[in-house]
Amino acid sequence: MRGRNLLGELDTFLAGREQELIDFRRDLHMHPELAFAEYRTTQRIAERLTAAGLVPSVLPRGTGVICEVGSGDGPTVALRADIDALPVPDEKDVSYSSTVPGVCHACGHDVHTTILLGTSLFLAQQAEAGLLPGRVRLIFQPAEELPGGALEVMASGGISGVDRIFGLHCDPRLDVGKVGLKAGPITSACDKVSIRVSGPGGHTARPHLTADLVFALAKILTELPAALSRRVDPRSSLSLVWGRVEAGSVANAIPDDGIAEGTVRCLDETAWHAAPDMIKTLLESVASAYGVEAEMDYVRGVPPVVNDEVSVQMLAEAAEGVLGEDSAVPTEQSLGGEDFGWYLESIPGAFARLGTRTPGSTLLADIHQGTFDVDESAIGAGVRFMAATALTALWEGRRPSAAAEPLMALNLDN
Ligand SMILES: [Zn+2]
Ligand SMILES: [Zn+2]
Repeated sequence: MRGRNLLGELDTFLAGREQELIDFRRDLHMHPELAFAEYRTTQRIAERLTAAGLVPSVLPRGTGVICEVGSGDGPTVALRADIDALPVPDEKDVSYSSTVPGVCHACGHDVHTTILLGTSLFLAQQAEAGLLPGRVRLIFQPAEELPGGALEVMASGGISGVDRIFGLHCDPRLDVGKVGLKAGPITSACDKVSIRVSGPGGHTARPHLTADLVFALAKILTELPAALSRRVDPRSSLSLVWGRVEAGSVANAIPDDGIAEGTVRCLDETAWHAAPDMIKTLLESVASAYGVEAEMDYVRGVPPVVNDEVSVQMLAEAAEGVLGEDSAVPTEQSLGGEDFGWYLESIPGAFARLGTRTPGSTLLADIHQGTFDVDESAIGAGVRFMAATALTALWEGRRPSAAAEPLMALNLDN
């Protein structure tokens, strides 16, 4: 890359450090910590960074670490890993099984953390040798699963001054050595909506003298999703689906209140932002037509992760450079949520899927399952990929913009 032997430098680095990184991952795996309680994990990360001559700072709530490598001019590129575990019991029979009952790294965040640590150590060497053409902000984010950690990082200035941000997630459906890439949305939004409907109540013989609450609730249940499908661009795949409904206790009394709860899933950022107000307006209009009062409680999840095209190109270039020509493969948008989406609302960047399946294996241990595990050679692959991505983004960031180049050529011709 850029006339340098990045591949060779990564080989040398990993030959000396890969086993140490695997041991680091196993230590985290044995001591998983839940969202905003990642004190030990934070301490381990900070110790390793300090030992490499870096100056890590712990986030104000006491978990999560931010650290910068490099100095001077040039762009700033951020790399983010999430560090929290899940309230899922470990079902694996391995030497590094979780020692904490009911908690394990079932989402692979121990792997993400280790990859970012390895990348940090490599980049620190590069900076020392004067080979880093800018700054790299390392973000070890707490509480991705809650979610809320990304907002905590942002509130403490974690992405201020950052030009571009990258992150990755283990993908057990993809072989080690491959990365899954997609421009545009790659994960989805999922919010919760609760509706409470109330009225005077009365006898089922005289619905006209009161407000027929169960009828009104049924109208709300069917009208809201139907009206939404005609008010929102179908390409956004915004869907409101009810999961719980409750009203009344006997056959011949109109109840005075009822509730409905459901989820709103959405693949598109604009529609996601508009959803709460739109649902509230539709709810009020249906409720008022039947003379009932309706209140809505809307709980935001995370926005979809919407990958910037130029950043995805950088990921592809990095993968091809250090993992092999066919290493970057297309991936699909998932209906899962990922709080990396919060960063991408403020700055450009991209999120990749990292293959963690042993090539040839037919076992599928999915994430969020107690059986989830990875082929640990994914750690070395992840370090190569992240380090090359940071360097690619720094080099590309120093170039004059692509739009300016044809103009310069034109001037020369004249
Ligand atoms: Zn997860
Ligand atoms: Zn995860």
